[in-house]
Amino acid sequence: MFKRSLRLFELWGIAVEIHFSWIFVILLVTWSFATGVYPDIYHGEKFFTGQLWIMSFLTAILLFVSILLHEFSHSVVAIRNGLPIGKITLFMFGGVAQMRREVESPAVELKMTSAGPAMTLVLIGLFYLLGVLFRSFDSLFVLFNSLAAINGVIFVFNMVPGFPLDGGRILRAIIWHRTGNILRATKIASRIGKGFAFILIGIGVMNLLVYRDFIGGVWLMIIGSFLRQAANRSYNNILYKEVMENFQVSDIVRYDVVAVGLSVDLLTLVEDYFKRYHFLSFPVVEDEMLVGIVTLEEVKRISSSKWAETKVADLVNTKFVDFVVRGFNSAGRVLHLINAGKYNSFPVVDNYGRLIGVINRSDYEEAVGVMTSLKN
Ligand SMILES: [Zn+2]
Repeated sequence: MFKRSLRLFELWGIAVEIHFSWIFVILLVTWSFATGVYPDIYHGEKFFTGQLWIMSFLTAILLFVSILLHEFSHSVVAIRNGLPIGKITLFMFGGVAQMRREVESPAVELKMTSAGPAMTLVLIGLFYLLGVLFRSFDSLFVLFNSLAAINGVIFVFNMVPGFPLDGGRILRAIIWHRTGNILRATKIASRIGKGFAFILIGIGVMNLLVYRDFIGGVWLMIIGSFLRQAANRSYNNILYKEVMENFQVSDIVRYDVVAVGLSVDLLTLVEDYFKRYHFLSFPVVEDEMLVGIVTLEEVKRISSSKWAETKVADLVNTKFVDFVVRGFNSAGRVLHLINAGKYNSFPVVDNYGRLIGVINRSDYEEAVGVMTSLKN
């Protein structure tokens, strides 16, 4: 799908961005109201074509404002509870307030999540009141009543108790509060979310095949599969976070490390090290002290005719920040290094800089895999 977003403005330190898919949404909403919804309800007798298009465009814009206000309420409550919000992005299926940190307590999650649907309820009342107030102006009456109805649909859809919808988040917060287990709470709520997604997809397929409603059917299928993906992703994120909290660097350090000296030439390095152990890099040591790392990639940059005369000392990478792990207490550091994706193994040194072991990406991935499947 599209990736680019456009920054609209900033309010209370929250940047509001619009995903390019939203331009499509505004056009689609305008078009379907001008050609379908409004003429269908009023049989086209009441309004001129131009009037219909202006009303429909206003409907789309005010829908946009409604969703923005819904997201803003989430964000404002989040900020009040000390959770920094980076930005709000409006995209095809609504809005996403990007949090820089995960919610740490069910009470905060409950407050933050309820704020959105609460705002939508206020908007339903407000648009309904505006409709009553302007009931002598046909076009405004229709416009405001439609917006009250649209916000009603948004409210009902959002309150379905499937994660990651607001209703699902509220359900998760309640289970989380009762059991103290965020993983189990997320699992239950996201299962309901996936169930709801399948129902949406099912209704979409039925619309398509039985009622021959192509646009409605495809829309429901797209929203359903989007929701299913989001439910899966949210659960996996929590699972990963839970696993990483118990992750110990010392669990995956290998002590039978193969290191190479500075004076070794590249021909020996290739024959006796790379070809024999099949590692992609080796720690380089001198008197037990780690000097740096030498990688197959670096060796390959040098023509093989020069291997005999080139020493490890000539191409050793000594920029420690890129690859070295110190001591046993820095799970975050290992994670950072592995996610950076630059190397496949990382030398571990003690407080004096002596090489004591090595961490391999594959060991790490296996360990996370086992821990994840034990939790699942
Ligand atoms: Zn919401």
